Amino acid sequence: MSEMAEPAEAEEITAAQLEERHIQRRAELQLGPARVGSGISSKEPVEMTTINSVCPSCGQRDALEVPAMFRNLGDRRFPCTACKAASEAKEAELRAEEEARLNRERRERRGAEILGVLRSIGVNAWDHRDATLEAFDAREAGPGVMQAAREFLDEVRSAGEYEQVRGLYLFGGTGAGKSHLAVAIARALLLDPDVPSGEVVYDHALRLIGQIQRTYGSDERAEEVLQRRIDARLWILDDLGTEAPSADVVRRLTEIFTERAMRPTIVTSNLSPDQLETRNPEFFRVVSRLGPRYFRTVRVHGSDRRFAAA
Ligand SMILES: [Zn+2]
Repeated sequence: MSEMAEPAEAEEITAAQLEERHIQRRAELQLGPARVGSGISSKEPVEMTTINSVCPSCGQRDALEVPAMFRNLGDRRFPCTACKAASEAKEAELRAEEEARLNRERRERRGAEILGVLRSIGVNAWDHRDATLEAFDAREAGPGVMQAAREFLDEVRSAGEYEQVRGLYLFGGTGAGKSHLAVAIARALLLDPDVPSGEVVYDHALRLIGQIQRTYGSDERAEEVLQRRIDARLWILDDLGTEAPSADVVRRLTEIFTERAMRPTIVTSNLSPDQLETRNPEFFRVVSRLGPRYFRTVRVHGSDRRFAAA
């Protein structure tokens, strides 16, 4: 056990002594002159002198006004104003670059995640890897297309589980960007962490028709295929009407539309609802569920984007 040292008796010290020690200490540590308002107060005016400062970067000599305490320290090496500003700017630039790199990585990771989810809901991720609302070229599409897409998305986002949302029926020529828009809406919805990916179902119409046809003979499997569409928070039926489906397929499609009872749905087609029916009278059952009461019909103009130069 060592003996405890007696605490040193407290020394009386004046503000002037304190200031002097402070300046001395800074000089010993080769710090620059104390800034005005360093916390040490003195009513005595401090005697000042001029010393030379040499910038360690560019060698520029500056005359510095410093307290007389620094008189004998000779040339000091402080960065000149320009070099100091330049090194601060360089640091800020490096920080900004690093931040941009992290953001880019985060975006890429999120993008890869979303692509995985899009694939899992049936979207061809190669065709639609860049399908975002921001990337949609609205100039050709015609007035109101983008607005309709955004309004639909907003309504879906704010709608409660059992609230009705009028669907979006997008029609126009092949490659005008209808699928792009539909996938972009799904993607935007999937970015919302509150929406489980299983609640968005994307179907290319031909594939769904094939899927329905393969369930013939098994009511259970047919039920499963239909129920998944009926329960989806958002259902996308892409490219309806390229093929005239059988009466039975139309009946099942109609069942999905009817059972969904205006849960959010997007249909895309080369044809307007009227044209669908003209092309194939069997469609009348579905078309009765595609009218203005259930769907907002928006024409998407444009040349074939798939072959346009990027
Ligand atoms: Zn300099």
